[in-house]
Amino acid sequence: MQIWWVPDPCGRNYVFIAQARNLGTCPKPSLLAASGLCGALALRSGVLLAWHEGTWTLAAWAHLACALSDPGAVPRGAAEALAPEELGDVRWCKHCQVAKPPRAHHCSTCQRCIRKMDHHCMWMNNCIGANNQKHFLLFLIYTSAHCLGVPLGVVCLLLRADEESPWYHVAHICGVAGLLLAGCVGRFCVQLLMEQLRHLSANQTGIELLQGTTGESRSFRATLQEVMGSAPSLRWLLPLPEPRGESAA
Ligand SMILES: [Zn+2]
Ligand SMILES: [Zn+2]
Repeated sequence: MQIWWVPDPCGRNYVFIAQARNLGTCPKPSLLAASGLCGALALRSGVLLAWHEGTWTLAAWAHLACALSDPGAVPRGAAEALAPEELGDVRWCKHCQVAKPPRAHHCSTCQRCIRKMDHHCMWMNNCIGANNQKHFLLFLIYTSAHCLGVPLGVVCLLLRADEESPWYHVAHICGVAGLLLAGCVGRFCVQLLMEQLRHLSANQTGIELLQGTTGESRSFRATLQEVMGSAPSLRWLLPLPEPRGESAA
């Protein structure tokens, strides 16, 4: 698989911050301690541990897949054979020197035309487009799910904390910091996820929303299937690449 990377130093920093955030809310130490409890709490902590570890791993995987995937760049020189009089209503990108396919837009950061461009995401250092919107959706879903589980993990941590231990206050500080971080990140991701679902139900990208246009009218399921790149299957749950035809050669 070809690695895609936008050479934007600012965006690169945001990608590192986002991955650091993933590590920041990773509750391995607290939940490993909590899973050592006996009885019903231990059982619940075991489930909680699997929940946290699973959603954290999938969120980090989806983030990297989204950041390092070709979002659907229009191959340069795709319409070189067209004479100016043949262009007609074709939208021409003077930067890439290509005819833009329907719903494609030029991104000044990626310096490419991107098919079905939704927006350029600084946290991904990449555009969200036809080829990687699946990974973006999965990142939002798994990060939201992860953040929703953090309060339970913190409760387990604090129940486990020994008042006599010199680490008692450190545990409280870490718990509160984790809650604040997960609260901010979770709220942001849930809000973005709701926006994405609204756009999908209208078959509309973020740019089309600003322009007041939409794609053709069709069902939510048809649009979702296009984004996920295949018929409903377990592949929908994993940020695996899907064959989509055009490449960014
Ligand atoms: Zn362009
Ligand atoms: Zn871009």
